[in-house]
Amino acid sequence: MLETSIPVTTTMPNQSNSEPENERSSSQLKELRMVTARKGTFNQNPLLSTTHTITCQHCQHSQSIVYLNSLKSGAFEVGKAEEIEVLDSSMPIESSEMEKVTPIIINFVCKKCSYCMEVRPVSVEYLQTLIDRPKPSGAMYV
Ligand SMILES: [Zn+2]
Repeated sequence: MLETSIPVTTTMPNQSNSEPENERSSSQLKELRMVTARKGTFNQNPLLSTTHTITCQHCQHSQSIVYLNSLKSGAFEVGKAEEIEVLDSSMPIESSEMEKVTPIIINFVCKKCSYCMEVRPVSVEYLQTLIDRPKPSGAMYV
């Protein structure tokens, strides 16, 4: 019997279609973040790719951490989304709107005393803008 490979019809998600953000689960977000970090999307971001020093709140021992490494290894949690009020300064009339902010929580354990700390360097929404934004070098569109 012959096996014929039938092309599978996949429904491609429309890029311009704005799907509701809140339908994604935390695990999906985490997966997305890991994949994107591995692809090097965040390598140019100074906040994520440079070394930060964190001082233990318990024993004052200082350690360095690179947030990008934590994102790559998946050693982080996606926090609960919070609504915050943001001022939109781009509008002629000063207006404020509610914006959803989902913190990314990196658990940081002191190597000296094993004290566990939470670091929230960025939000999911912030990373999303990095993913969505075209490369600053531009000239991508011919
Ligand atoms: Zn410590």
